[in-house]
Amino acid sequence: MEVFLGVDWGGTYIKAGVVDGKGRIVEKEVFSSSKLKDKRVFISEIKKLLFRFSRYKITAVGIGAPGIIDTNKGFIYYLPNVSGWKNYPLRTVLQKELRLPVYIDNDANLFALAEAKIGAAKDRRRAIFLTLGTGLGGAVILDGKILEGRTSASELGHMPVDIMGRKCGCGGRGCIETLVGNRYLLEDYRKRKKNTKVKDVKEIYDRALSGEASALAVWISFSKGLGMFLSGMVNTFNPEVIVFGGGVSGAFSLFKPMVWKVIRQQAMWPQVKGLKLVRAKLKDTGIIGAGLLAKENSI
Ligand SMILES: [Zn+2]
Repeated sequence: MEVFLGVDWGGTYIKAGVVDGKGRIVEKEVFSSSKLKDKRVFISEIKKLLFRFSRYKITAVGIGAPGIIDTNKGFIYYLPNVSGWKNYPLRTVLQKELRLPVYIDNDANLFALAEAKIGAAKDRRRAIFLTLGTGLGGAVILDGKILEGRTSASELGHMPVDIMGRKCGCGGRGCIETLVGNRYLLEDYRKRKKNTKVKDVKEIYDRALSGEASALAVWISFSKGLGMFLSGMVNTFNPEVIVFGGGVSGAFSLFKPMVWKVIRQQAMWPQVKGLKLVRAKLKDTGIIGAGLLAKENSI
């Protein structure tokens, strides 16, 4: 049986697995990614993985990278959270080292690919995918294929929505990420409720559920921002479904009705007809997406 190596390269962990042609994980491995600032260490770790999984017939490798990359060339422009990786032709180097075809895409695209093929958007032709976490990742699937940019993957999180908005990590201002990213939700809460310690976004969620007004206000403002942004996406791409993933999607049941309300008010009604908002379905989506990327490209 032909299988693929899927590598999900995160800020803290690398998750890798052998993925079959149907997107099922046959075997997986998780290790810390803290040492991977050094490119040689990264390459030797991938080599070790192939050796460890050598009893399988791995025919191609897919990698989801956490940053700005040229998906056609597998060239890394930069990784916002991993220093030392600037302008690096990772695909070319790895193909030479591993003697296997290697494909690289960004993590949000691979999340979308996995959910579109075998998850929450299976059999849907047009779908929008969001990963809500530290930042906002996103991707669009049209006719079953990831919509790729000319020189890099699409960066939905950096769609500007607020002229007077905050400075964003990308260097721009007022991006949707600055309204819905973890860091900004915490900042927003601390501003509303001074002198109150809050550990993480989950805590703001719990406090909102228990009826605390300041916490609820954070989610209302989150939903307004996300709803306005998604209305633009709905008007532009007219999707059948919007899939929500990432850590913050744990609050889906809380923000879904509020986001829906904004979309209904803001987007054009023929575009909204039949639209569904759903939560992502898969576990280890990054490994599956990377495996499927390798499979789709090797056919
Ligand atoms: Zn930005």
